Amino acid sequence: MSAETFYGPDFNLLSQQDPDIAAVLLSELKRQQTSLQLIASENFTSRAVLATLGSTLSNKYAEGYPGKRYYGGCEEVDKAEIIAIDRAKDLFGAEHANVQPHSGASANIAVYLAFTKPGDTILAMSLPHGGHLTHGSKVNFSGKWFNVESYGVRQDNELIDYDELRDTAIRTKPKMICSGATAYPSLVDFEKIRAICDEVGAIMWVDAAHFIGLVAGKAIPSPVPYADVVSFTTHKVLRGPRGGMILAKAEHAAAIDKAVFPGIQGGPVMSAVAGKAVALAECATPAYQNYAKDVIVNAKALAAALESEGMRAVSGGTQTHLALMDIRSTGVTGKVADERCGLAGIVMNKNSIPYDPEKPGITSGIRVGTPATTTQGMGVAEMQTIASFIARAIKTDDEKTLAAIKTEVHALTARFPIYTA
Ligand SMILES: *Cc1c(COP(=O)(O)O)cnc(C)c1O
Repeated sequence: MSAETFYGPDFNLLSQQDPDIAAVLLSELKRQQTSLQLIASENFTSRAVLATLGSTLSNKYAEGYPGKRYYGGCEEVDKAEIIAIDRAKDLFGAEHANVQPHSGASANIAVYLAFTKPGDTILAMSLPHGGHLTHGSKVNFSGKWFNVESYGVRQDNELIDYDELRDTAIRTKPKMICSGATAYPSLVDFEKIRAICDEVGAIMWVDAAHFIGLVAGKAIPSPVPYADVVSFTTHKVLRGPRGGMILAKAEHAAAIDKAVFPGIQGGPVMSAVAGKAVALAECATPAYQNYAKDVIVNAKALAAALESEGMRAVSGGTQTHLALMDIRSTGVTGKVADERCGLAGIVMNKNSIPYDPEKPGITSGIRVGTPATTTQGMGVAEMQTIASFIARAIKTDDEKTLAAIKTEVHALTARFPIYTA
């Protein structure tokens, strides 16, 4: 099936009206179909979700919440938002859900606004050890407006140092403790973090953006019973539309809702809210639960295969959907590995490893994730093939060799077609 057919009759209208943008849509679809998507935060959302995103719900202003809008004509979009909220509460066993945040970063800004004032102390995972920009980076509002204390991983086992976390919490008395990261391959001990929060009187905030899909698929333990508030993106392992969401204990419901609107956002993107509802229903199926387990099986297989190619899996391997590989043994930096793999049709990212001697723009590591390839139907055998592609690509600067690997990548992706039906 051609790309034109995939996008449907509206695509012909777009092509006639705006061939420049139509060409981008076509070539991006082709890029996703023919290269390997190993970026740990990406996935292929369903056609049903895509249908909501391209719908007339995009036209509707709906500032406020269902039944309490500032504009008329919200009776239909209200239904979509109520369905999304109910599905989120059911799926995660949450007391409260806000489905309006435009993105993970927006959800996090709302969390800060709900629980803190500028100048307050927060404690979060340090960025070089996997924390996110919104957890206190100097170039982010969080680092500019808050006093940010950080914890990291132990040098010996590269797992979160809960003793350091507790000591720092006792010493600095943070208003809020954030757990969750963008490049931590292991599981977080939420029970331990709850105990530390209780000991120092801090709000327990879990930024579950990366792994919430694994929680939704019941493949790893949930932070929801422990945390005061859980923020996340809906487009990573969760496989929904690009957007954010917040779950909270009932006692924080009003504070969270006020923080999202009118605190930091105007009108919600109702097409995305409807897409979140569709994705949440997909997540409640046995097929998705199998998918979530397979994502982890594949990540473990990919990490093990890369280790047998001489690289080292940080944190002793992965318990999640991503692996962080220390590639110093190859003699190549993360930056160069990223570029070479790119030329070979393998899309992943360079990533700092804990205690990295290289600068963040160079790095000694790569981060690879399996949400997208698993959605395509790839399994352990393909992970081994992918690891050999990566190992060969990293070790050569010969453009012909990289192009030859790209041909093999095309042959592999052709066996696992996406967006065809
Ligand atoms: C991806 C991510 C975010 C940000 O999400 P955006 O939708 O890109 O704003 C926030 N926190 C963590 C831990 C993330 O991994």
